[in-house]
Amino acid sequence: MRHVAIVGAGLAGFSVARRLRELDYTGAITLFGDEGALPYDRPPLSKGSLKASVDASGATLRPSEFFEENQIALRPSEPVLRIDTTARTLQLRGEAFAFDALVLATGATPRALPNAIIRGLHGVHGLRTLADAQRISQAFGTAQHALIVGGGYIGLEVAAAAAERGLRVTLIEAGPRILGRVAGPPTADAIRAAHKRKGVDIREGVGLSAFVGTDQVKGAILSDGAHVATDCVIVGIGIDPNVTLAKSAGLATENGILVDPTCQTSQPGIWAAGDCAAFPMADQITRLESVGNAIEMGEVVAANIMGQSRPYAPTAWFWSDQFDLKLQMVGLSPGYDRIVTRPGVNPDAISHWYYAGERLLSVDIINEPKTYIIAKRLIETGKSPPPAQIADQSVNLKVLLKS
Ligand code: FAD
Repeated sequence: MRHVAIVGAGLAGFSVARRLRELDYTGAITLFGDEGALPYDRPPLSKGSLKASVDASGATLRPSEFFEENQIALRPSEPVLRIDTTARTLQLRGEAFAFDALVLATGATPRALPNAIIRGLHGVHGLRTLADAQRISQAFGTAQHALIVGGGYIGLEVAAAAAERGLRVTLIEAGPRILGRVAGPPTADAIRAAHKRKGVDIREGVGLSAFVGTDQVKGAILSDGAHVATDCVIVGIGIDPNVTLAKSAGLATENGILVDPTCQTSQPGIWAAGDCAAFPMADQITRLESVGNAIEMGEVVAANIMGQSRPYAPTAWFWSDQFDLKLQMVGLSPGYDRIVTRPGVNPDAISHWYYAGERLLSVDIINEPKTYIIAKRLIETGKSPPPAQIADQSVNLKVLLKS
């Protein structure tokens, strides 16, 4: 491989480039981005960055010298328009660019509300990029009342940040409860209670019918007929993987760019990683939207470009910070039939362990990083401690690791 081209200068694309150099790849690497910035971390955008003015450089993954020293040609303002899989070229605005291996790390786009609801009103924001976070942070400086649409992690984190900035906050979730897609009821209960304590008005099973206002959003009418005054709306209703480029090149897609266990797409020599990639895991096509997935899948792609044929078999992990809650999750809970609660050492700590029969699937941990480390190790090594021992606070979790 003389030339690896990577489309998408986010965390997954960066991870591929970094790992290729760590593996002593000596050919050329070109990293194409379209945000006009050095690769940066997104998690702070819904957390610390919204609490005060957003520091544009704070979340940068590496300084520009890193790219020069490692001979990674970063082209941050160069959207890739098309892929010619026969000629093995990328179409850029002014040139065709030849590659030997190609990685698609195109990420995802936040879902938007229908145009009929937004009506071009000012004050309605999505959140994915640094520029989005800067706009929201600025809006928080003058707004009185934030309406958050969507009770997933991003919506809840933004709600916490808005409350901490002194805004009145209402969060609506159209599903029966917050975190319905990603966590069980007891974890959602703990998060809901924390928001309630801080004055966030969470309304579940309630959708959005219309906005009020002619130029600037002034309020919202909810599906239950209620009216909420608001001058700032943040929409966090999920993301769609960016597959257009792959699809137009004839690559297989299915809720993401389909890859095989080694992260190769339906075209040999073209790989995909991160939020855009759908991969086989436990007989299911899975797509993960997390930092851990972007880093680790990028690393596996780099190894496989170097000929290692490594399968991608991740342990999913994620975290979320809201007020004084640190939530950490490991594993995937779908298919669970019972949740075992383990009280924490301190009163504000607790963990929820998801089992299918006797098999441990995943764990949500609140305010107890030590438990997270052990839970991650248990899941990674496929160990399933008996639920009764997990529920018994006197049982030392470290001992379970050895059994
Ligand atoms: P992205 O970071 O989206 O990067 C893809 C890049 O490709 C983008 O810059 C895009 O503009 C560019 N691109 C797309 N098409 C083209 C093209 N044709 N040409 C050139 N460039 C292109 N995860 C956690 O684990 N914990 C958290 O706490 C957490 N918090 C988050 C908070 C926020 C606000 C957001 C938005 C995400 C958060 N995530 C979190 C998720 C995590 O950040 C993502 O899973 C991760 O960034 C995915 O990386 P990626 O490289 O796959 O995609």
